[in-house]
Amino acid sequence: MRGKLEERKTVEPPPIPAICDTFIPLPAGLELYKNVEIKEELPIPQIMRNRSVPVFSIYQIRFREGVEDVTDAIAELEDFFFRPGRISRVGNLRVDLEVRCEKCKYHSILKGVSQLSRCPRCGNTRVMTKRIRTYYTLYGDWEDFITVNKYSWYLGLPREQRHTGYIARGVERRASPFHLAVHSDRAFITSFLSLDWPTYIEWYTRPRQLGAIINVTIDRHGRVDNTFIQSIIKVHCEILGYIEAYLARLRYQFQVIYP
Ligand SMILES: [Zn+2]
Repeated sequence: MRGKLEERKTVEPPPIPAICDTFIPLPAGLELYKNVEIKEELPIPQIMRNRSVPVFSIYQIRFREGVEDVTDAIAELEDFFFRPGRISRVGNLRVDLEVRCEKCKYHSILKGVSQLSRCPRCGNTRVMTKRIRTYYTLYGDWEDFITVNKYSWYLGLPREQRHTGYIARGVERRASPFHLAVHSDRAFITSFLSLDWPTYIEWYTRPRQLGAIINVTIDRHGRVDNTFIQSIIKVHCEILGYIEAYLARLRYQFQVIYP
């Protein structure tokens, strides 16, 4: 694997047209997890060395004991890249109760309630209830670190469904910088840091309802200088930290095997 890698002396982030073992120093003043919504402890990713981040890196992941069917491992690892699956694995299970009362037309979903014998409004004892299993995280029922910080675009574009989601105009496709490969008893996640991203992405909550503009060249304080490189490196490293936390939560052992 280390055979014929192209050596580069640059300290600029790529595009570099080769897999290489170059490390890019973090821009001065860049601190991971600063200015993000964070309610959980996320690690500085193990791929980093002395405030430098490799252009290309590989994690080797060993399945935890008890995972016998490789398809289970595939599902768990793939879920990282899909929001509902990720939420169900990083979150905690909660039982909610859907309550319907024909008598007073009460209809509600009561969070964290597992049973009820009377209608909370009129006291009717013939109230209809249905249990709903749901997963919640520290950020909310449908949100996690990636969604709450609007980092999902970094998992690859387009990321759009029925005109909602992340839309980068003029950009047809941008592959995810993270790749998952699963073998019989282990998996690999590769990451590739590269600057060929759109600088301006629109995020729609509903069709034609602009929820936010993700302007990668402007930071939260409105500064423009050099922030594109900073933003990409920051998002890259923070998502890797979140991947590590996810693997730890699944009790998978992982190590950086390249560079
Ligand atoms: Zn009622």
